[in-house]
Amino acid sequence: MSKIGWNAAVWRSWLALPKEPEVLVAQYGALKRQMPLLYTLIFVNTAAVTYTHWSVAPKWLTIGFSGLLGVVCAWRIVFWMRTTNLQRNEYCKARHQLRRTIYLSAVLGSGFLIWSLLLDHYGGTAEHGHIALFVAVTVIGCIFCFVELPQAATTGTLVVTVPYLLYYVSRGNAVFTAMALNIFLVNTVMIRVLCNSFMSFKTSIIATAAVAAKQRETEILSTENARLAHTDALTGLPNRRFFFSELGRRLADAKEGGSRLSVGVLDLDRFKPVNDTFGHALGDRLLAAVGERLLHNVGARTVVARLGGDEFGLIIPADSDVEGLGAAICEALGQPFEVDGHSVTIGCSGGFASFPEAGTTVHELFDRSDYALYHAKSASVGSSSLFSLEHETRIRSDRSLETALREADLATELYVVFQPILCTRTNVVTAVEALGRWRSAVLGDVSPERFIVTAERLGMMQSITLNLLGKALADFATLPESIGLSFNLSAHDIVSPSTIAKVLDHINKSTVDPKRIAFELTETSVMSDYDAAVMGIRALRELGIRVALDDFGTGYSSLSYLRQLPLDKVKVDRSFVTDINKPSGRNIVAAIVGLCRTLQLELIIEGVETEGQLIALQAVGCSLAQGYLFAKPMSVAELTLWCAGQEFSSTALPQYNVESTSRTLLRAG
Ligand code: C2E
Ligand code: CA
Ligand code: CA
Repeated sequence: MSKIGWNAAVWRSWLALPKEPEVLVAQYGALKRQMPLLYTLIFVNTAAVTYTHWSVAPKWLTIGFSGLLGVVCAWRIVFWMRTTNLQRNEYCKARHQLRRTIYLSAVLGSGFLIWSLLLDHYGGTAEHGHIALFVAVTVIGCIFCFVELPQAATTGTLVVTVPYLLYYVSRGNAVFTAMALNIFLVNTVMIRVLCNSFMSFKTSIIATAAVAAKQRETEILSTENARLAHTDALTGLPNRRFFFSELGRRLADAKEGGSRLSVGVLDLDRFKPVNDTFGHALGDRLLAAVGERLLHNVGARTVVARLGGDEFGLIIPADSDVEGLGAAICEALGQPFEVDGHSVTIGCSGGFASFPEAGTTVHELFDRSDYALYHAKSASVGSSSLFSLEHETRIRSDRSLETALREADLATELYVVFQPILCTRTNVVTAVEALGRWRSAVLGDVSPERFIVTAERLGMMQSITLNLLGKALADFATLPESIGLSFNLSAHDIVSPSTIAKVLDHINKSTVDPKRIAFELTETSVMSDYDAAVMGIRALRELGIRVALDDFGTGYSSLSYLRQLPLDKVKVDRSFVTDINKPSGRNIVAAIVGLCRTLQLELIIEGVETEGQLIALQAVGCSLAQGYLFAKPMSVAELTLWCAGQEFSSTALPQYNVESTSRTLLRAG
């Protein structure tokens, strides 16, 4: 019993197929090609034996057997021809089929052997010889067809050749015994050769599979590397590089398909103060939260990328409502974020440009969405705008402005006007603000807001500032000692050590006492590079120059900045004066007055246009004011005349009197 069990185990292990899935699948593929040939060979050989034994053997053994075999062969040929090649993951199916083939080779081999031995009882020497030849060539043919399945070849060979040899030995026929022995030996050698060739087949399949696996691994790695190179580590969104290459690709598709496409640039508002106040770690998490909220608010087909800093980019598919999307994003990002236990409110402004109207290249579309963003920000922070015809006209006029400014003779075309700053109680002029003017030889008068922005863009700000300062100092030197000078510095000036050094040099060389001078800076200009701006402010203050924060209330109005910055004065923006006669407006101004008192900062209110405003301002404690009610900006000559008249009116009338000022203005004008 145990011997039988051992034999079964040996047979099982011997019949065991390779474990490697790719080898099984390859064996199956080879078999699929060779099995139809094998069945054809068997059938042809059987038909030949049937033919030679037709007249000597019973019909059931000749035509009966070959007819039945013909049906079986046809069925197997059709079966193998209809099978398809298997994939690696279908190796179980391959193993099952290979096993069936091994068993079938044993069954068919036994069937053929019995048939041959039964036929061997009929006919003469020639017929016996044919049977021997039939057994030999059929087994050799099978061995060749099973070159990739040696288990089936060996099973078939053993099942046929061993009993065949024993049969002739038992019959005592020396010639046929020798032939059977010969067939047995040849087949044994062939099986051995077959096993060697199968081993190299197996090795080559395993090696090819290993190479393919390595290749797949390399591909996965390089895909991952490419993904990382295109991903922003902080937010997990695509980065700037991906944004531009994807925009290029989508734009090419849009051009080819005749479809539309829009580009968006989003810039976070108030991100910098949040970052500075709460720290960079919170700032980083806030940016990640912004990324998530953006993804949540745009459609699945819109690409959202982080372009750098607090700037995000969008690529919007053809059929989207771009303006609606812009408004929705600004609204969504304006809602508070909960980060690290803090409720933080920022906001966002957006600029959009659509293909083909706004541009036809990546560069044009991006520039124009950036231009639309700039306009959205200047019109109303927290809004979005789509690049339009109006923007196009504006770009053209900007270009002509740039050309005119580049070619301008700054020494003759630039000049300075002065607007007085008065004490609201005494009506006495305490200072004058110098305001730059440009009368272009090509364009005529250009507003300072426009030419200063253009000069900043062209990198010409330093020469313009120094030119205007030189003129302001020269004019100012002629004014009475009691009056101070306020001069505006741009964002580029205050963060540029070389400009600050040259400004100080100009002042040192002039006859004006630095203590009479105040420089006005806006909050946004300080924010552009806080550290550099603080250095600039310190350098100015070391010389005794005072520094004012201009347009207070229009920027971030961050109290921490007001406390941290080394300031002397605050100039409250004229938008606050407009509402001064409403209780809410009055309360805000009163609060700012109180704040400045606490922080020991001098307060000047700008843009006073009516007597009613002035009275309300006096009531809340504003002691210094500037505005058209007193005087518009004027040349130094006009100012001198105006001051003379003002002196007269202020001594005659200690409190402000509208009529007298109007008269003075008329006289001065
Ligand atoms: P700003 O520094 O806030 O200057 C005050 C602006 O308000 C001036 O306009 C002035 O003419 C105007 N203004 C004064 N009182 C009233 C009023 O009662 N009602 C109204 N509606 N406006 C009033 P301006 O001269 O057109 O200057 C505009 C801006 O251009 C300035 O705003 C300043 O930011 C910039 N700017 C002007 N000159 C210079 C300069 O020399 N250098 C620099 N960097 N910027 C300058
Ligand atoms: Ca100013
Ligand atoms: Ca101002």
